[in-house]
Amino acid sequence: MAGLRIGTAGIPASAKPQTTPDGIRRLAELGLDHMEIEFVRGVRMGEKTARTVGELAEELSISLTVHAPYYINLNSADPEKIEASKKRIVQAAKVGAAAGAVSVTFHAAFYHDDDPQQVYQLVKGHMEDMLEELARSGVNIRLSPETTGGPTQFGTLEELIRLGQELPGVYPCVDFAHLYARSLGEYNSYQHFAGVLQSIRDGLGEEALKAMHIHLSGIEYGPRGEKRHVPLEETELDYRAVLQALVDFDVAGWLTCESPILEEDALILKGLYEELHQR
Ligand SMILES: [Zn+2]
Repeated sequence: MAGLRIGTAGIPASAKPQTTPDGIRRLAELGLDHMEIEFVRGVRMGEKTARTVGELAEELSISLTVHAPYYINLNSADPEKIEASKKRIVQAAKVGAAAGAVSVTFHAAFYHDDDPQQVYQLVKGHMEDMLEELARSGVNIRLSPETTGGPTQFGTLEELIRLGQELPGVYPCVDFAHLYARSLGEYNSYQHFAGVLQSIRDGLGEEALKAMHIHLSGIEYGPRGEKRHVPLEETELDYRAVLQALVDFDVAGWLTCESPILEEDALILKGLYEELHQR
């Protein structure tokens, strides 16, 4: 069996009713392997429900990751907003861990007008606090800051690899659509994608490629990077080349499709991935 588990960002559109357990059942019916639990508008699940969700997911062999709320900025000028951001990430991590999720991703910060070096140090300090709190509470889940889609956002691949080097247990969540949008279309060849995987291997070791948190979807960009996710059929992102690089580097882990047509595109990615894998 192939090393990447592929699935949807949240509940598939064809799940009825639209609950997380029904979403997990639907993914299993469709032959998909993974769900990213979307707490993007807030953590609206308690730990007790999360445990039930986790049991079902395990029974149906659906792996889980978590996306923390969008309302996060570890470089806010307002200290209360920073504290609230950390609380949201920690809460998403705790509930995710209760469901047995392996990794929680989030968009860490905005640069505003600050020096990216300073922002890096601030983000790192806040990450250390959160790691300590999770360790103290016995919560076992990975914190995986995401490569972001626009130049105003903290989260280049280089920044995240450095965070992973300096903070044991932290790995980047690599969103290939964001890398492409942020570079205004430059990151769009097999060489680029293979280069991303090579940098991760060089910076964080082979094990980083064996448990990789990945996002892949169609995307549209403008002068300021990411505009919106679009179906694979409408994007110029060479997702086939992304999958080829993932196959060639023998990457294993969890790939979430954030397409507006969730399961349809996730199934396309899974079909293509398996085809490339068998060659
Ligand atoms: Zn994201």
